[in-house]
Amino acid sequence: MEKIDKVAVIGAGTMGNGIAHVFAQFGYQVRLMDLSSQALQKALETISKNFDRQIAKNLVTEPEKQAALARIQTYTQLEEAAKEADLVVEVVTENAEIKHQIFAQLDKICPAHAILASNTSSISITHIAAATRRPEQVIGMHFMNPVPVMKLVEVIRGYATSKPVTQTIMEVARSLQKTPVEVNDYPGFVSNRVLMPMINEAIYALFEGVAGVEEIDTVMKLGMAHPMGPLQLADFIGLDVCKAILEVLYEGFGNPKYAPCPLLVNMVRAGHLGVKSGRGFYEYQGKEMKVASRFALLAERK
Ligand code: NAD
Repeated sequence: MEKIDKVAVIGAGTMGNGIAHVFAQFGYQVRLMDLSSQALQKALETISKNFDRQIAKNLVTEPEKQAALARIQTYTQLEEAAKEADLVVEVVTENAEIKHQIFAQLDKICPAHAILASNTSSISITHIAAATRRPEQVIGMHFMNPVPVMKLVEVIRGYATSKPVTQTIMEVARSLQKTPVEVNDYPGFVSNRVLMPMINEAIYALFEGVAGVEEIDTVMKLGMAHPMGPLQLADFIGLDVCKAILEVLYEGFGNPKYAPCPLLVNMVRAGHLGVKSGRGFYEYQGKEMKVASRFALLAERK
């Protein structure tokens, strides 16, 4: 395997801080970049807090935390962050145009041997790779949220991704104590192709009055042994993100079965995006969570 030591993580939001955390934890030199210095500051605070959680669970020690934090440097300039990278993991906003631009820049900035990975949930790796002159070195490295906790990395081979590059990324994922799964580049890959129709169907069941929010989630938790019901999970992922991924599936396959439920569309229009806006299928206040008043009222009326 190609030796990977220096890793540039581009984007320091929800996923970027988790990805920087695990790379630093397992000994890589991390250059974390974001356009926003506030996002970088917040990311460092989140990483520190998440290490404290791991310390409380005896998963890491305080000196290991300090050593990991010392391996993370922050940047607001892409060139500074990426110019010496062996591996870049792009974790910016889910927007095909922005990712295309970043990959075109990375192709110019990075050493010839560098592998360019994207953490995209749904954008075609083949499309992203087409912005570069090294499509065989472009790959999907799809971590799950929260990154320090979740074991899966979906490794997505674009149309041109080479086998050695895929093997290197599988090894890198294992070195982070994750379980990589190799999949081909089709809309939604495997994770979201299977998950999002289930979430959409749960929203349809609510929309059609088959059952209430808690009832639907309880059926899936207790009946199917899911740790979280699909409506709570949708709130956690973000309803805008769920809608965007369903649209990728809908357009990618040209099949109406993936069209986002009108209730989901309306909730996103209204800005009820789930946990991040404090309100979705549930309402969130601090650590408290209760069924959103709108759906609680609907349940009472029946
Ligand atoms: P986020 O909005 O929390 O963070 C995105 C960050 O990217 C922001 O800090 C923003 O300032 C930064 N950014 C935007 N444009 C940039 C640019 N040109 N250069 C550098 N930084 C830039 O988003 P997120 O939830 O962390 O998602 C990031 C990626 O990870 C997306 O592709 C998303 O689909 C994917 N993903 C998200 C989840 C999830 O549960 N949130 C799970 C798996 C994959």
